[in-house]
Amino acid sequence: AAHHNHDVTRMEMVRWADIGGHRLVKELLHESVVWFYRNAEAFQRLGIRPSKGVLLYGPPGTGKTLLGKAVATESGANFLSISIADLIKGEVGESEKAIAKTFETARRCSPCVVFMDELEALFSRHDQMGDVGKKLFSQLIIEIDALDWTTSQVVLLCATNHPQCLDPSLLRPGRIDRLVAVRPPSKSERIAILKTISSQVTLHSDVQFEEIALRTRGKTGADLKELLRRASLAALSRSGFDAKPSVQMCDFSQALESPQFT
Ligand code: ATP
Repeated sequence: AAHHNHDVTRMEMVRWADIGGHRLVKELLHESVVWFYRNAEAFQRLGIRPSKGVLLYGPPGTGKTLLGKAVATESGANFLSISIADLIKGEVGESEKAIAKTFETARRCSPCVVFMDELEALFSRHDQMGDVGKKLFSQLIIEIDALDWTTSQVVLLCATNHPQCLDPSLLRPGRIDRLVAVRPPSKSERIAILKTISSQVTLHSDVQFEEIALRTRGKTGADLKELLRRASLAALSRSGFDAKPSVQMCDFSQALESPQFT
């Protein structure tokens, strides 16, 4: 794997098992992307290629970035991540160069998954976009159209909180033509998330995920992570900053009383 560009990383190895819930999303991504990387030659012989672009859409904190990383890990591919919102803050000329460079790096580091966050910064209404946005947009289209699975295994994964803001020409067949909803977790999914995020934490036997899940309706994986962080802090302070205290139900109850969770 290539490590000469610091943007390319395989450091954080997120596996499917590290993501709680999202069973159907994981299945879909596995079949529409991972299979292609894993069986590149077989698919090549059949003349079948994956979608060039997949869009994950849903509210913040539901695990879109995590899913993107897991796709790369499970595919045995490099992971290259860029933020459209960051690029758009740049100068005209710079931002489209950055896009071109990203795809160039991705091709060089093939197999590679390119992850683009905050795609909604590319508004559907061109008059709302500044010059930077317009240039960025056309360069992105050029790069997507130029993707060629037979010469380099690169798939573009995008994430957005506002799919309705996107320009339809971006979502045309042959471009970002697979849309996947990433929804806030159900109660049983919240239990699954609590299990995965607390795998490194010592939990007291009185901790009931069922109860915590009941009290976190509408909350996301990111919220639950924050809850666990606060419960761990409560445990630390309760135990007089013991090296490795076990987190008890009372610590979760205390964390649940913070404004974010009531
Ligand atoms: P945003 O739209 O704000 O970028 P996102 O949907 O990309 O949000 P992530 O950044 O992937 O969300 O999630 C934030 C953090 O929340 C993750 O790093 C992870 O620790 C935790 N998390 C979110 N969803 C899950 C999940 N389903 N399972 C385990 N952890 C999760």
